[in-house]
Amino acid sequence: MAPDVDRKKEALKGLIFNIQKFSLNDGPGIRTVVFFKGCPLRCAWCSNPESQLGMPEQMFDSSKNKMITCGKSMTVDEVMDEVMQDKPFYDESGGGVTFSGGEVLFQAKFAIELAKKLKEKGVNLACETTGYVKSSVFKEFMKYIDFMYYDCKQWDPMLHQKGTGETNEIILKNLDLALKYQTPENNKQLCIRIPVIPGFNYTDNDAENFGKLFVKMGVDHVELLPFHQFGLKKYEELNRPYALKNVAQLASTDLLNYQKILAKYNVQADINGWD
Ligand code: SF4
Repeated sequence: MAPDVDRKKEALKGLIFNIQKFSLNDGPGIRTVVFFKGCPLRCAWCSNPESQLGMPEQMFDSSKNKMITCGKSMTVDEVMDEVMQDKPFYDESGGGVTFSGGEVLFQAKFAIELAKKLKEKGVNLACETTGYVKSSVFKEFMKYIDFMYYDCKQWDPMLHQKGTGETNEIILKNLDLALKYQTPENNKQLCIRIPVIPGFNYTDNDAENFGKLFVKMGVDHVELLPFHQFGLKKYEELNRPYALKNVAQLASTDLLNYQKILAKYNVQADINGWD
């Protein structure tokens, strides 16, 4: 059963695999990041493979040297109780709460309910999404989001499918909606990110085609995220094969040419490297 099914007399529940406090890298100020479990995509490079399955699963936690269950069923109120503990820090620092995953919108009903409650309490809300959900649902969700990180992984539908399991039509359609709605006039911010992955979207031809797509869509600013191997250990802990195991990480300097090509199309690309 989907984790956010609202059963009679039972509170709506979401499947959460981590709530991380005092994060400084997931939106403005001091933030609490809520990690939603479940994702409709299967990106070959995923650095959070424990987030993909929409159900609890066992994994070996090497820091504790024991098996743990990844994924906890929680009500909206339970998540609220936890994240509201740090409200004074949000207020002080201009921070708030960030929804991450997995794909937040895999549990759209739960995410929207939680978002509503947070906005009622005046909490700034950010999210990381790839927008793979029905547009009507995406539109409803956007209303509550102050700062949206939107992953745009491929310009070509077939290559997108090859790398993630799904084509990018819905993703580009919802990106278009986000571009229209998440604007400073609406008091909202949008940050479009491209994870740059060798063998998937790292060629000059990819950068050229992203440039052409962005001109068409009216995108003038993106972030480039160079491929890293931070998820490597997790595949071992889940006892799952990892196709990109032997692929070298990309340093920020490896993306300078990519950045230059995008600049030809008047797209400013900031490199947000791990190094
Ligand atoms: S969309 Fe994100 S969470 Fe889902 S498989 Fe891809 S990288 Fe992993």
